[in-house]
Amino acid sequence: MREIGHFIDGASQPGTSGRTGDVYDPSTGQVQARVTLGTAAELDQAVQVAVRAQAAWAQVNPQRRARVMFAFKQILEREMEPLARLLSSEHGKTIADAKGDIQRGLEVIEFACGIPHLQKGEFTEGAGPGIDMYSIRQPLGVVAGITPFNFPAMIPMWMCGVAIACGNAFICKPSEKDPSVPMRLGELFQEAGLPEGIYQVVNGDKVVVDAILEHPDIKAVSFVGSSAVAEYIYAKGATYGKRVQAMGGAKNHAIILPDADLDQVTNDLIGAGYGSAGERCMAISVAVPVTDKVADALVERLKPRVEALRVGPPTDSDVDYGPLVTREHRANVLRWIEQGVAEGAELVVDGRAVSFQGWEGGFYLGGSLFDRVTPDMDSYRTEIFGPVLQIARARDAEEALALPSRHQYGNGTAIYTRDGGAARAYASRVEVGMVGINVPIPVPLAYHSFGGWKRSAFGDTNQHGMEGVRFFTRVKTITARWPEGAGNAEFVIPTMK
Ligand code: NAD
Repeated sequence: MREIGHFIDGASQPGTSGRTGDVYDPSTGQVQARVTLGTAAELDQAVQVAVRAQAAWAQVNPQRRARVMFAFKQILEREMEPLARLLSSEHGKTIADAKGDIQRGLEVIEFACGIPHLQKGEFTEGAGPGIDMYSIRQPLGVVAGITPFNFPAMIPMWMCGVAIACGNAFICKPSEKDPSVPMRLGELFQEAGLPEGIYQVVNGDKVVVDAILEHPDIKAVSFVGSSAVAEYIYAKGATYGKRVQAMGGAKNHAIILPDADLDQVTNDLIGAGYGSAGERCMAISVAVPVTDKVADALVERLKPRVEALRVGPPTDSDVDYGPLVTREHRANVLRWIEQGVAEGAELVVDGRAVSFQGWEGGFYLGGSLFDRVTPDMDSYRTEIFGPVLQIARARDAEEALALPSRHQYGNGTAIYTRDGGAARAYASRVEVGMVGINVPIPVPLAYHSFGGWKRSAFGDTNQHGMEGVRFFTRVKTITARWPEGAGNAEFVIPTMK
């Protein structure tokens, strides 16, 4: 059995706790590896290494730090195929989708190559007589990232790309469900010339998470995962005086106005609702057709497409999506389908029974489609995170807008229409952090920033882009005078009249 330890001080090392977690091959349901669940002492060991390494890394000029990022980007491109296979084998997403996961992380590395420009400060010459004033952005020191299972390449790179380029040392605590890609990134960073101790991985569960939150030498924590854990991280991190950004769950609505192109909508909903088995925080999980006429026409188009979804092993290039990540998660999604039925929603397509010869043990689930879902249902209020699309009908655009705006989550949303004014008004008014106009999954590119509203994000800076640079640096402002002669003592607060 393959054992996955930690990546500390430039090398893999076995865990010492004796506790392990099972890493599955979701396509067969077999355990393929065991990951160590670390201790506070192992986390502390990584932090001590990071503190020493960071002091030197912060002195490396920004152009040289950028060169490491350039080299890392090229290595990732070279390693795309084996990395995608490794990722897919633990997560269950298709190889093509796994490449997308890596590519979106790689784009943050590309963004980080611009760090000499991005981290530049501001300078005012002559702020007063003989006085210059300038602001600089300095790294925080040692920072940590705690990441979810669903994007094991992209999300660690959202964080480490920017954090490391800014001059910090980064410790990753990956999901225990698919930790191998973050581990492999450590080896690839070494090859790119990153000094030992600047990127490390400490595997584990709540024990390591709490050790991160409590450690006095970790200055900031970036988290992505479910909202309950995000809220915990935010509150506890703040108690220990840390800077925290904590992204949470989602329930993303697509509003379909009567003038929308229903063929485009159908294609987009199939991809955004069922791609990656719905295990995306930007998946569309609720479609909101405006008027019953639009709803009926949409259901008529969606039903045969959902029934025809090809589910199967992620290595098969013909499948639309692969298995869910674990047996427990699959059981959880099944429970929410049953709940939807019990609450009176109409199950138009039932994806619960699916199994293939030779793959009976895999965590597969067919696509399900619900109609007539209403805001009072628990299955609507909750994030299901599976291949389940719910249709909530609205009488008019105002009623449609109220649904995502009043929902506890506010990650992403989309509106489909040919009416520019209606789209603009929706984008302006909706209480959601990321909006697509005729675009189903409006994930901002690396040079913009990713983040939702309400219970989808705690803390106030988004991931990557300039928000990421701000999160991983702190500003120092220096006022300098080089007088030609001695001045007089000043007893009033200095002003620059
Ligand atoms: P999760 O919250 O179960 O786990 C995330 C991380 O927190 C993991 O590293 C895990 O080990 C750790 N963790 C889990 N329980 C913990 C606890 N009780 N105390 C301390 N740490 C704990 O999330 P997941 O199932 O891995 O990922 C799916 C969730 O992530 C979904 O809710 C999805 O919407 C969300 N997500 C959000 C975004 C976003 O940017 N908003 C992006 C991707 C995923």
